[in-house]
Amino acid sequence: MSIPARVTINEVGPRDGLQNEDGFVETGKKVEFIERLAGTGLRRIEAVSFVHPKAIPQMRDASAVMAALPRPEGATYLALVPNEVGARNAIAANTHEIGTVVSASESHNRSNVQRSVAESLNGIAGVAQLAAAAGTPWQGYISTAFGCPYEGDVPSAKVVEIARALVALGATAISLGDTIGAANPRQVSTLIRILRTAIPDTPLRLHFHDTRGTALANVLAALEEGIDSFDGSVGGLGGCPYAPGAAGNVATEDLVYMLHEMGVETGIDLQALVGVARWAEQLVGRPLPGRVKQAGDSLFRGAA
Ligand code: ZN
Repeated sequence: MSIPARVTINEVGPRDGLQNEDGFVETGKKVEFIERLAGTGLRRIEAVSFVHPKAIPQMRDASAVMAALPRPEGATYLALVPNEVGARNAIAANTHEIGTVVSASESHNRSNVQRSVAESLNGIAGVAQLAAAAGTPWQGYISTAFGCPYEGDVPSAKVVEIARALVALGATAISLGDTIGAANPRQVSTLIRILRTAIPDTPLRLHFHDTRGTALANVLAALEEGIDSFDGSVGGLGGCPYAPGAAGNVATEDLVYMLHEMGVETGIDLQALVGVARWAEQLVGRPLPGRVKQAGDSLFRGAA
């Protein structure tokens, strides 16, 4: 398998990143954030989640954010939904693509959404019906696919079972989430191969948190298995500032830097993206962990 010539980046900073911020980011600032990201050439942006405002207060203005977003040609805005209520709101807000979520481990699913995995899959069946009726594609996130904070190792058979169930319900893609940043490259290769056999016709996307510094190595392993779609969070935004050890997704600009240096196209303007990463630091009022923005502009090839 050769490395793909072109990779699609799904920016999740406005959702996976901001949802961990305690300080409420005003609607206008959220919209500006997403517009700035779109301005770098990012075409797929997970903009919001439609969750109960008591569960995640940061996302209480999801409908207002979606209503205010300009819809340039080619832009795809995704929204995460936990249930049918969220799906109805997402569809009403003209969301281009819906993301459903279920954990590969029972304990994590219970702590996350207070349901068993089977109950979550039942709920996703309802979301799938609504999405089908509206003509809205939806992807199935499988979180803790590479490890669970409560159960440790997650059997690949469990991931396969859930992935098959999601595909049977109509998922257009499966996103494998390393929610706690515990995966290693060999494990990534192995799980991708297993899923390629189990659900050969469904595209896979990979979502790596960088909690232990292995995210880019895991991206490389996935690239070598032919994966061409990755999530990133600008600046590495995410995690929880009050939970030591929690970290966000791989920083989008670090991911884009590595891909471009490897000769893989993304369609993204890296220097513009670094500018947004710096802007995002001001937005949340603290330094973000992304590395390329710390290296300085002189390190860009072709820079004076
Ligand atoms: Zn995540």
